Amino acid sequence: MSVPQVIVIAGTHGNEINAPWLLEQWIKDPELINTHGFRTSKVIGNPEALKVCKRYLHSDLNRSFRLKYLDDIYIQDYEVIRARELLAIYGPNGSNSCQLAIDIHSTTSAMGTSLVVYGRRPSDLAIASLLQSKLGLPIYLHEGDETQQGFLVESWPCGIVIEIGPVPQGLLHANIINQTRLTLEICFEELAKVSSGSAQFPKTTVIHRHIRSIDFPRSKDGKIEALIHPHRQGKDWIPINNGEPLFLSLDGSVVTFDEDKSLVPVFINEAAYSEKKIAMSLTQREVLYFSDSWKESLKNLFI
Ligand SMILES: [Zn+2]
Repeated sequence: MSVPQVIVIAGTHGNEINAPWLLEQWIKDPELINTHGFRTSKVIGNPEALKVCKRYLHSDLNRSFRLKYLDDIYIQDYEVIRARELLAIYGPNGSNSCQLAIDIHSTTSAMGTSLVVYGRRPSDLAIASLLQSKLGLPIYLHEGDETQQGFLVESWPCGIVIEIGPVPQGLLHANIINQTRLTLEICFEELAKVSSGSAQFPKTTVIHRHIRSIDFPRSKDGKIEALIHPHRQGKDWIPINNGEPLFLSLDGSVVTFDEDKSLVPVFINEAAYSEKKIAMSLTQREVLYFSDSWKESLKNLFI
């Protein structure tokens, strides 16, 4: 049985500096994180943006993995060039090919330690389920959003995003670094169990399925007119019900959540999303029954 090579990517967004710091320490001290024998490629996603502590130089690297960008030679944004480069080296058919991608981010939102999976690829769901059952991590299942596409991990046969916050952009924070390290360690520990056939997969997995994103109230010229209501700020993963406060304007008027069904907000007030006109994303909490096909799909990476 072969063991998949894992690409661990940090600094896909150049102003999220905690994971790159951890990665540098790990490169200096390979014992820092026990990979249980898995070979890893430790890669800074967007090194040029990291140097200047900006999310990106020309365009968001984590939206640059769309085939229509990758295949279009006229697109010469730094991030699209970098996406092509990462795939040429570490992609499933690259010179140093990896089969599994772990992309580590931080957020200004109070997401805690959480996982993001894109779509319902069985192997992604399998590994997310293992991490949830071990660490109790919430899972954001991002799918069906035409305006947000081209995520990095989708270019590998299996991939998840670890998203940890809150932490300001450009700020090193020991707790965030420790949480990142712990999550990576458990990830390799669980992968090792998959490899040895001793992994205990849960019967059910709770996911938060993306429904839609909502913008701040804005004036005609695009300026933000109301802020996240203080009762909602920092309440990621906590359901919001009809009539509860959502936004607050300076004159004291309150915009309430106006929907019959309760939904669960995530990425509330993420600093990087203001440019995308996203004040928060709304999700629906659902229970998925674990399918053997998920397990088989993950195991197939080891063949
Ligand atoms: Zn990020």
